Amino acid sequence: MLRIGVFGGSFDPVHLGHVNLAKDALEQCALNRVLLVPARLQPFKLDRTPASGADRMNMLNLALAGEDRIYPSDLELKQEGVSYTYLTLRAMQKEFGEGARLYFIAGTDSLVKLDTWMNHEELLSRYAYIVGARPGYREEEREEAMIRLRKHWGTEIIRINNRPFDLSATEIRKRVAQGLAVDQMVGRDVEEYIISHGLYR
Ligand code: ATP
Repeated sequence: MLRIGVFGGSFDPVHLGHVNLAKDALEQCALNRVLLVPARLQPFKLDRTPASGADRMNMLNLALAGEDRIYPSDLELKQEGVSYTYLTLRAMQKEFGEGARLYFIAGTDSLVKLDTWMNHEELLSRYAYIVGARPGYREEEREEAMIRLRKHWGTEIIRINNRPFDLSATEIRKRVAQGLAVDQMVGRDVEEYIISHGLYR
């Protein structure tokens, strides 16, 4: 059976916390492939306009250039309006066929809110989840959410032991605006892209 990891987010910009969570999920859960899917507009982040879809895809391509079996997907960027994960997963299931098992990859902060997402009944009953720890969030929060969702929806949720990267895209955008280096957080190529395209200033 094909095992596909689907990793949604703003990726504004993609950073090493994202790349390493994708790598750890691929290895620890024996996935055939992981797709990073930048949202066109995120339902919970409508108060700020992200960098363009083209810029975010270009940065994803740079960040993932050296990775095997990890790719960006422009599926949500090609749609109109707000991006909803249940629509993305429906489209992915159609593309890979009913024989494929889809694993949605998320950090603790996303897992704890999963049952507030649009059509969460469908999300939690049809698909599996891989949850990485995120520095700044307690292990008990991850545990509690896993227990609650499994009990209520019977959801398959796999907890992985990912390498910790205590950083966020918000922090990176702030540093760029202050003229500080971010190469340790996003890698040299993405940093160069951000600077040469005047992003986040
Ligand atoms: P922002 O600061 O703009 O809100 P972010 O850094 O939180 O962005 P997103 O693109 O919103 O990044 O995150 C997408 C997914 O990646 C979420 O499931 C989130 O939990 C996970 N994630 C982000 N950063 C990390 C990290 N440092 N470690 C583990 N998981 C992370």
